[in-house]
Amino acid sequence: MESERHEIGLVAGPCSAENHVQMLDTARALKKMGVKIFRAGLWKPRSRWGSFEGVGERGLPWLTEIQRDLGLHVMTEVALPRHVEAVLKAGINMVWIGARTTVNPFMMRELSEALRGNHVSVWVKNPVSPDLQLWIGAIERLQNVGIQDLYIVHRGFCVTDSHPYRNAPLWNLLEQFRSYFPMLTYYCDPSHIAGKRELLLPICEKALDLHFDGLFIESHISPQTALSDSAQQVTPEDLGKLLHTLRVSVHSSETCVSAV
Ligand code: PEP
Ligand code: MN
Repeated sequence: MESERHEIGLVAGPCSAENHVQMLDTARALKKMGVKIFRAGLWKPRSRWGSFEGVGERGLPWLTEIQRDLGLHVMTEVALPRHVEAVLKAGINMVWIGARTTVNPFMMRELSEALRGNHVSVWVKNPVSPDLQLWIGAIERLQNVGIQDLYIVHRGFCVTDSHPYRNAPLWNLLEQFRSYFPMLTYYCDPSHIAGKRELLLPICEKALDLHFDGLFIESHISPQTALSDSAQQVTPEDLGKLLHTLRVSVHSSETCVSAV
């Protein structure tokens, strides 16, 4: 029997903002697929020195153009107070905090202080290490400075054996975390769990079984030439096919993101 089609939230966009054309082409194609919230990293936390570390502030006008001209919500990763300052100054009020930042209580304190008093939606990835207390602490620090529009992004954990995935999902740990914050909104990031686009589908299916509110997926107009996370990104067209296979459609922005 065919399962019923249902609505989910969806954040999609390239791992990194690379250039104006790549950003605009990807955003236009994703908009056609029903995407309402566009993601792209400007400052990239790369493990190895010499990797592409992002275009930085140079990409802010590309994001604001997409926000203004295509009417998409846009977000980028902030890891330092100066990133928060630059993003807010550009008129962007949605950010995500990456797994290499939530792992560090000092950084979470600094970032929380930078965010204090601002009306901003914050999407928080789980810490890279499977440490429940660190994960809880990251959220508490944000709540403590009055951030109310909080979203949890589950992107898997660094463990010695995560085979076949890049990051182990550790669904049980997620459930433990969820029992602390049952009222928050949960997104699954199958891209960083899988590490390979071929493995996205079963992770998305599991996320839907576990009643996640939405998916946070990397999509690039030309994944093969992407400057970061090339193997795990999908074209906007393939993202459309994935949603079709999952039998889901995308929430309108009003129902999945409170107006900020
Ligand atoms: C990303 O979303 O591109 C990213 C760097 O994510 P994470 O912090 O989950 O590694
Ligand atoms: Mn990435």
